Formats: sequence, structure tokens, C-alpha cells
Amino acid sequence: MAEIIDVDHLYASVAARDRAYLGQAYVGVRSTGIFCTMGCPSRTPLKKNCRFFETVEDCVAAGFRACKRCRPEQ
Ligand SMILES: [Zn+2]
Repeated sequence: MAEIIDVDHLYASVAARDRAYLGQAYVGVRSTGIFCTMGCPSRTPLKKNCRFFETVEDCVAAGFRACKRCRPEQ
């Protein structure tokens, strides 16, 4: 599974709703079971709940469902 370890850097990007990593990383939120694209307009999750993956398939394999706002599977 391609989980991205550099959480600090990517979380800063999520908190800023920065789209620089759009298509290169996805964020799974443990508390909700949802994963999002980078730059999703949904409320910023707590850092401790975030896991980052390289592909949609990795997120699904880890048990996350796609966000209905940013639709990462498309
Ligand atoms: Zn989203």
C-alpha cells in the first residue's frame, strides 16, 4: 500500500486547502472513514485523524469511502 509518510507537509496543504498536490495525494480521515482530494472544501480534519495515500485505490484498500463533495474517484 502506498501510504505517504510526510504527514506534516501534506497536512499543512490540507489545512490551507492548497491544491498543489491535487492528483498526487489523497487524504483519508480516520474519524469519518472518508477520503478526499487535496484542496477539498470540507472542514479540515484533525491532523491525528489524517492518513495520506498516493492513489484512490490505496484509499479504498485502506477502507475509506470517497468524499461526496470533492469526488476523488473521478
Ligand atoms: Zn472531499
